[in-house]
Amino acid sequence: MIDDVAEEFYFKPDAGRLFVSPADASPSAPLDAYPDDLDVAAGVERLERATHLNVTRVSHSWAGLRTFARDASPVVGLDGAVRGFCWLAGQGGYGIKTSPALSRACAALIRGAPLPEDFARLGICADELSPDRLRDCDPGS
Ligand SMILES: Cc1cc2nc3c(=O)[nH]c(=O)nc-3n(C[C@H](O)[C@H](O)[C@H](O)COP(=O)(O)OP(=O)(O)OC[C@H]3O[C@@H](n4cnc5c(N)ncnc54)[C@H](O)[C@@H]3O)c2cc1C
Repeated sequence: MIDDVAEEFYFKPDAGRLFVSPADASPSAPLDAYPDDLDVAAGVERLERATHLNVTRVSHSWAGLRTFARDASPVVGLDGAVRGFCWLAGQGGYGIKTSPALSRACAALIRGAPLPEDFARLGICADELSPDRLRDCDPGS
């Protein structure tokens, strides 16, 4: 897999073809995402600019939404207002990669236990993940 330093695009071989993403992050309301023609063209242009490849046809395009909290950190923890509801959201583009760790954090918080020891060693505390940190945010911003 090739990923540029500025995270403007990445590509990798996939099922006999090339999988290319412009790594774009256009703000969007929750909806069934569809690939925007301009974003597809941007992916092609960035690939061609960085390589000797010449794209003649895009055989398939796809889009999805990555979910971010305002500070771009995951939201993990019990809701302050709704008893028994625990958040595990806002994993952005890293929810697959982080799921083993975040699910352990979530399980600990549901049990009322501290975050697992490896979180503490990395200096991550429950307050930094808690939904409470976003309570006063304007949901539209
Ligand atoms: C384009 C794109 C690229 C990504 N690339 C990466 C990557 O390279 N590496 C990485 O680590 N992460 C990546 N991610 C992020 C990752 O996919 C997410 O962070 C992760 O899937 C979130 O997991 P989740 O279980 O919280 O939510 P989801 O995977 O969204 O699962 C939620 C599930 O709940 C179901 N659901 C929704 N509403 C209801 C309902 N009312 N009743 C019952 N079921 C319901 C949905 O159908 C869905 O199956 C990417 C995301 C996108 C969009």
